[in-house]
Amino acid sequence: MATTYDLVILGGGPGGFDAAVEAAGAGLKTALVEAAELGGTCLNRGCIPTKLWLGATEPVEALAAQTKARVASGSVGIDFAALQTRKDKYLAATRKAMQQRLTGLGVDLVAGLGRVVGAGSLEVATADGPRTLGYRNLIVATGSRPGSFPGLAPDGAKVLDSTGLLALTEMPKSLLVVGGGFIGLEMAQAAQRMGAKITLVDALNRLAGAEDPEVSKTLESVFKRQGWDLRLGVKVASVTTRGAEAVLTLDSPGGGEELRADCALIAVGRRPNSAGLGLEALGATLSGAGYIQTDAQLQSAPGVYAVGDVNGRMLLAHAASHQAHYVVTRLLGHDSGPYDSGPVPSILYGAPEVFRAGIMAQAQDDNAKAPSSPVLVSRAQLIANPIAQAHAATAGFVKCVWREGKVAGITAVGAGVSRLACFATLIIKLGWTREDAEAFMFPHPTLDESLKAALLADKEAA
Ligand code: FAD
Repeated sequence: MATTYDLVILGGGPGGFDAAVEAAGAGLKTALVEAAELGGTCLNRGCIPTKLWLGATEPVEALAAQTKARVASGSVGIDFAALQTRKDKYLAATRKAMQQRLTGLGVDLVAGLGRVVGAGSLEVATADGPRTLGYRNLIVATGSRPGSFPGLAPDGAKVLDSTGLLALTEMPKSLLVVGGGFIGLEMAQAAQRMGAKITLVDALNRLAGAEDPEVSKTLESVFKRQGWDLRLGVKVASVTTRGAEAVLTLDSPGGGEELRADCALIAVGRRPNSAGLGLEALGATLSGAGYIQTDAQLQSAPGVYAVGDVNGRMLLAHAASHQAHYVVTRLLGHDSGPYDSGPVPSILYGAPEVFRAGIMAQAQDDNAKAPSSPVLVSRAQLIANPIAQAHAATAGFVKCVWREGKVAGITAVGAGVSRLACFATLIIKLGWTREDAEAFMFPHPTLDESLKAALLADKEAA
């Protein structure tokens, strides 16, 4: 007879893992079903490997900045094979630690692809054949995978998605990047630091299209100075492997120009892992793009919750974890009302970095809903900041968005601005006024002082 659990979780990424740890820790009989590897996209193919690449190659950027200031010279060599070995070891050790944590808490780990076969019943295709699990509550945290468009499908040869690029054994000397969002930009920066010549193509006429347009301008000027060939506002007809090269054909009347490189990265967004889960039979609905629709309690059908990338609310690891915590708290009987994400911090890593939380002067995405009342902005340039000067990396700014006299959003671009993330998000959460900023003691010298300068600067119309 199938065991019935208080909670079954589908997917062991940040959303599923955190839900399992919290639920089992609180005494719920919990099973976690994972089709591939614990840690999900974030650990194995996303946040962590990209940051290992960027962290290892960061000295290249630091040296370049000081060389430009004529106070240093030389070069930094990156051993790509060693970096990949280090990455793989780190990921394996983390997966092992996660497994130990779960089993230590009494979570039943079930390896295999799971799908709902009826209300309260799930079937998992395990290596030993199908296994049925009963559940009182189900959390679907099946995440997302790389997206593509017709003509842009990764072929595993010279045309790769982010997962394929992270698995390379040799860094290409030239890289075509299709897509100027977070994933394309982070991976292009790491590749460039390891010697790849970057050509980036995007149908939008600016980089990081979800961000403030002034952020896009700063990114474009920095990357152009670094020698990137930026083709913005152009459409791609196809990307294919031809011999030892990736060939990208631009979509233009009368036959498009061809761009060639050793390899191409397709980074055109993500798609939810929602097909074939059997949720529709329980009453759940999927959006046109396949995201599982959730109500104000993150519920998709009675007793079925969806958290993380698969619900499409915010494709970020910490958003998945935050939602998981909310659902488990409800299951434990603490009803705290509808789900409220608060201001969601998002960060683009590299040099420069981009940080954003709360609203933007012009709404660009779901998190930054159109301002309901007029907003004002105040800003400070990093060039006046001693820490930015010390690092010889002064391009960028901090911008505050004010609504009804309170800080409602903060955006920053520049070297190291991710350091501002927690403090800036808290300022928004607390709804700081100018007086709050004046009364607070900011340490000197720090990058935080650029936040202070932006908070105290004259406000102007957005
Ligand atoms: P996932 O991490 O995708 O995990 C879902 C898991 O479910 C997977 O392990 C999958 O195998 C499993 N699964 C799927 N279907 C089934 C099934 N039917 N049965 C059993 N198991 C199943 N976010 C950040 O916050 N910061 C970053 O810096 C960042 N960088 C990124 C860089 C890259 C290159 C990429 C691709 C993503 C990045 N992200 C980043 C996004 C982040 O990885 C995701 O938002 C996060 O992993 C979502 O977590 P999740 O738990 O919803 O799903």
